[in-house]
Amino acid sequence: MRKSLFDIAYEQLHRYITENNLRHSAKRTQILQEICLLPQPFTEEQLEQACEPLHVARASIFNALNMFVLAQILHADSRHRGQTHTQYELITGRGTRMEVICKQCGRVTELRDKAIVKMIKEKHYSNFEPQHFTLFVYGECKVCRQQNAKKA
Ligand SMILES: [Zn+2]
Repeated sequence: MRKSLFDIAYEQLHRYITENNLRHSAKRTQILQEICLLPQPFTEEQLEQACEPLHVARASIFNALNMFVLAQILHADSRHRGQTHTQYELITGRGTRMEVICKQCGRVTELRDKAIVKMIKEKHYSNFEPQHFTLFVYGECKVCRQQNAKKA
């Protein structure tokens, strides 16, 4: 049976919650369900509208979005800085994923590096057939680095 997008996203969330000793929340799961039904990418406002029948507080939606970004379920697009709306997009279940993640603010940026993809695709493994891969590069983003420099 083919897993739905929600199944994959939920597994990812479950793993994140367990690894970080967080509490499960039924509301958060419902928010994730709504996200999987939304056209991608979407804004927080669109999600709020979709969640109206659930009667969840705005803060809960905001917190859930942040957690989903940290759990690598959503990608928050920072290219729209200066605009009021951050665009969110489901990245779960995607074939190959490469991302640069700021450890301080959690900002996730997609990494496009054809050389890395080529290298991994062309690599031969004994007794193993690779299908897709995920690469996370952790560090400090430009914004945080500038803020830290100001503080110092
Ligand atoms: Zn940062």
